[in-house]
Amino acid sequence: MRIVLVGPPGAGKGTQAALLAKTLSIPHVSTGDLFRANISQGTELGLLAKSIMDTGKLVPDEVTIAMVKDRLQQSDAAPGFLLDGFPRNTAQAVALDAILKDFGIALDGVLDLEVPEDEVVRRIAGRRICRNDSAHVFHVLYNAPAVEGVCDVCGGELYQRGDDTEETVRTRLEVYHTETEPIIEYYEKQGLVTTIPALGKVSEVTERAIAALKANANG
Ligand code: AMP
Repeated sequence: MRIVLVGPPGAGKGTQAALLAKTLSIPHVSTGDLFRANISQGTELGLLAKSIMDTGKLVPDEVTIAMVKDRLQQSDAAPGFLLDGFPRNTAQAVALDAILKDFGIALDGVLDLEVPEDEVVRRIAGRRICRNDSAHVFHVLYNAPAVEGVCDVCGGELYQRGDDTEETVRTRLEVYHTETEPIIEYYEKQGLVTTIPALGKVSEVTERAIAALKANANG
């Protein structure tokens, strides 16, 4: 299955993508995670990405698209993939279509996670992520770890993303509305979009997502 996950920052895309990817046995391809890996490795791309990510704006399309193309060519992505955080604008969506056409494949579906804006801000402000695995996500109020600052899953150190500050979140939300939301319409024209509410327990959202993807595959 080849799926794109969309939704505002704080919708739980990373959490759901990791769970869905495991269930569907396909790799979770997160452009945010790929940039963060480049930042921790101190690559040239990481240096560029960090300066832009800290402001909440988008990394230039050219480098982002090249990075995704490279990732999708790796053998583990041959049976399918779950894209999280890409495409982020119409130019990237058009580029993805061209890349997949080149590979002789196409998307199976686009899952749109819907969350009210005040909830998004609450979620992001308290979000803490494990340094060992970005799929281990906690919240200081809603999903607090047993020991403050320590990952329940692997004992790793929990940290607050540098771009999870209130000011940057506002920019990221604005960027989402102006640049990313139009891709939903772009994919609607291809009949690919299923929207699900992303409120409730993590497991409930995952169940909704799986049901939506199955319905999409059968329809
Ligand atoms: P995320 O982890 O998906 O919330 O992404 C964090 C940040 O990485 C974004 O605010 C952007 O600065 C950058 N980023 C992630 N994905 C993309 C993309 N597809 N295009 C441009 N910038 C991106």
